[in-house]
Amino acid sequence: MSETILIVGAGPTGLSAAAGIASVGRKVALIEKENVLGGAPILSRYAKLVPSGEWAKDALGRMVKRVVDNPLVTIHKGVKVAKLDGEFGNFTATLADGQSINAGAVILGTGFTHFDSINKPEWGFGTYEDVVTTTQVEQMVGAGKIACPSDGRVPQRVCILLCVGSRDRQIGREWCSKICCTVSCNLAMEIKELSPKTDVYIYYMDIRTFGLYEDKYYWRSQEEFHIKYVKARIAEVTQGPDQRLLVKAEDTLVKRPIVIPFDLVVHAIGMDPNLDNPEIAKVFGVGLEKHGFIDRGEHYTSSFASTRRGIYVGGSALGPEDIDTCVSHGLAMAMRAVGDLSAVAQKAA
Ligand SMILES: Cc1cc2nc3c(=O)[nH]c(=O)nc-3n(C[C@H](O)[C@H](O)[C@H](O)COP(=O)(O)OP(=O)(O)OC[C@H]3O[C@@H](n4cnc5c(N)ncnc54)[C@H](O)[C@@H]3O)c2cc1C
Ligand code: SF4
Repeated sequence: MSETILIVGAGPTGLSAAAGIASVGRKVALIEKENVLGGAPILSRYAKLVPSGEWAKDALGRMVKRVVDNPLVTIHKGVKVAKLDGEFGNFTATLADGQSINAGAVILGTGFTHFDSINKPEWGFGTYEDVVTTTQVEQMVGAGKIACPSDGRVPQRVCILLCVGSRDRQIGREWCSKICCTVSCNLAMEIKELSPKTDVYIYYMDIRTFGLYEDKYYWRSQEEFHIKYVKARIAEVTQGPDQRLLVKAEDTLVKRPIVIPFDLVVHAIGMDPNLDNPEIAKVFGVGLEKHGFIDRGEHYTSSFASTRRGIYVGGSALGPEDIDTCVSHGLAMAMRAVGDLSAVAQKAA
């Protein structure tokens, strides 16, 4: 039986699992398809994270360092698993570069893909340069300047459209992405901090600043930063004769059409299933649930089991999750994999 545990994906989930497994003296082989570790917060250059307020590069930097510095963890960057043979206790993974790794168990921390706003063309992304996504605004905040991409001017009026690529049956995305309300309230305040004269509006269906985030983000953004919330159903984003963007919507509180001009329109994009999931399902022999995320085997007595014995799945590979939850999933999977392997070894002894 192999003592090594194979982890696929080096985002918050995979990094947490790797640190957990190494902390009990087991070996880890960590496979990441990109050449950089840290997952979405690093690859998409997020700014300050909710709820900690810490810069993503610092928070994830610490998680990466803890794993990179650990001699029990072997890291394979820029490569995927091409084939997995064997069974629980004795898997053999063949990497796309031809290397072969023996592992007792496999942990999938393969994460999500950001919704591509091009799939919501009537809301202007891809047509107008000044329609951007929350990840682009995160990058502007990181660079210390909010600007309209078309000409670099500081926007006088910004609106953030919530639920872009989430809670939208028309485009086959029924799920709530869980984090984007809180992230958007935070981004609105960060825009005001960088440009106090800019007016910021948030167009919403509902505000779901879950858990303890209601006062810190929703109320504070209104009371201290004067962010304006408009409950509306968006129809389309077009351009007026003065080149400003026009957001056409129905105000669902007063039940009247509204058309308001903005300099910058921001799509609060949701979390899609990882585009690799069909390939991951095939290579690892695991099932996908109906939306395309990786499926669970069972919820309560075998948490984080996939549909294949010895392969565990957690974090945003299972569905939209925040980083705190992903870190917990990573640790829980470490516990499950080590515990299950020890039980098999004891039985065999
Ligand atoms: C705009 C936006 C802002 C956000 N801001 C916050 C925030 O402030 N605070 C917060 O708590 N959460 C935030 N989130 C959520 C956060 O991004 C996720 O919770 C977190 O990134 C999920 O971690 P993960 O490790 O599960 O997946 P990911 O971060 O997606 O990492 C998965 C890793 O696996 C790798 N991978 C994927 N497929 C393969 C494969 N086939 N082979 C090998 N490697 C593979 C990827 O390259 C990646 O490195 C935000 C989300 C969005 C959309
Ligand atoms: S968290 Fe908010 S913005 Fe994101 S999908 Fe849910 S309701 Fe919409």
